Amino acid sequence: MSAVRTRFAPSPTGFMHVGNLRTALYAWLLARSEHGKFILRIEDTDQARYVPNAVEVIYATLASAGLDHDEGPDRDGGCGPYVQSERKDLYRKYAEQLVASGDAYYCFCDKCDAPDDGETVHDAAEVCACRSMDPAEAVRRAAAGSPHVIRQKIDRSGVSTFTDTVFGEITIENKVLDDQILLKRDGMPTYNFANVVDDHLMGITHVVRGSEYLSSTPKYNLLYRAFGWEIPVYVHLPLIMGRDAEGNVSKLSKRHGSVSFENLVAEGYLPEAVVNYIALLGWSPKSDRELFTLSELAAAFKLSGLNKSPAVFDYGKLRWMNSQYIQNLPPEEFARRAKPFARVTGTPLEPAWPRIAALLQSRVEVLGECAEMIGFLRELPEFDLALFCHKKSKSDVENTRADLPEIRNVLAGLTAWTAENISLALTDFAAAREVKAGRPMWQARIAVSGRAVTPGGPGEIMEILGRTESLRRIDAALARLKS
Ligand code: GLU
Repeated sequence: MSAVRTRFAPSPTGFMHVGNLRTALYAWLLARSEHGKFILRIEDTDQARYVPNAVEVIYATLASAGLDHDEGPDRDGGCGPYVQSERKDLYRKYAEQLVASGDAYYCFCDKCDAPDDGETVHDAAEVCACRSMDPAEAVRRAAAGSPHVIRQKIDRSGVSTFTDTVFGEITIENKVLDDQILLKRDGMPTYNFANVVDDHLMGITHVVRGSEYLSSTPKYNLLYRAFGWEIPVYVHLPLIMGRDAEGNVSKLSKRHGSVSFENLVAEGYLPEAVVNYIALLGWSPKSDRELFTLSELAAAFKLSGLNKSPAVFDYGKLRWMNSQYIQNLPPEEFARRAKPFARVTGTPLEPAWPRIAALLQSRVEVLGECAEMIGFLRELPEFDLALFCHKKSKSDVENTRADLPEIRNVLAGLTAWTAENISLALTDFAAAREVKAGRPMWQARIAVSGRAVTPGGPGEIMEILGRTESLRRIDAALARLKS
């Protein structure tokens, strides 16, 4: 077999759905695992659906996900241009070739300026009168400038069968196939035509795409045959589903959660965790292993591991995987990546950020949780004095009222304000009174944080807050306890 060439052919219609990213990932993995080439092609023939900036989103997403391409609009490999609208002029000759061979025809119906991509005014059962027009007459009208589209001429008898790598043998009755538009009035090809011409001209050996294209594939095969071109290996991927609160499963959409790579990353999922997670949505290494770097995925990837049953996107699982990636980051790297999420830049907390980050790393599952988790460091939240009651450490409002003034004195007397010294002072305080160390620890921590659960203990928190702010917070608690 010739060297593997795969492509990712997104339409610039907005954000990158995780399903599209998975398609890109599998095409990339297939190319990399076979030491082949991965090509990026922008499919922008449907100008009505074009969204400005969407091409930038495609580049940014691929770069952030680590999916490098060997050829594409920005990397010529000799098959360019790699943007379909820039290839507009080359499609007519192929469409005309099909008209000449009787595999396509001119259609002059005035409602045929279909928006795009096979949506035509003729449904599958209806046959356009232009189909049976005398070819010489049709050529004459077209040459005279009569507006027309070019349609594929499909024999609706019998069945079409082809084999897909994932779904196996697929048979479709030809009567459901329509004479789809290949070339629009303005000369722009439809996706249905351009994908065949381009995949051939770009030497694509394996077409990896969503299963929604399975039903059109027989029409593409007819085109390949009419041209005498080799049909690529098809790898259609199952749908990605989502589960709602009631447990119902349907196609993954916004009501299930974030569905774009961009949004997931903006929420604080690490790109590499998202990539790892979606790699397993429809592909299995055939072992229990779940954590893979991109290059490990490329080494393990095999087409035989693809699954045809729809995969359900499990946000809980993604969250778990993300926490694993977060915990495995080098501390400085975690601090760098989490900083924008913690919103400390330009605040009094910024100098202490490396120490704060060290407390957060083992505790956050998604970076977006950082800001909320350290909110108490910015400002002491209002809290109920009942928070001083904690059974396990035997702390309550009464003993806190008695202990806290002494704890304050001990702390105020510390020469060096470090987490270690603060903790030591609290343990010594407990030892001298023969109470559990947990008691002053709890009392002090609640006084300075106002939170039952905090990242870090009282020593770490007070070190970050500094002596003045810590004592101010203890004084505030004392004032409340006294009144
Ligand atoms: N432009 C199509 C899409 O974004 C690509 C389908 C294909 O890969 O052939 O769905």
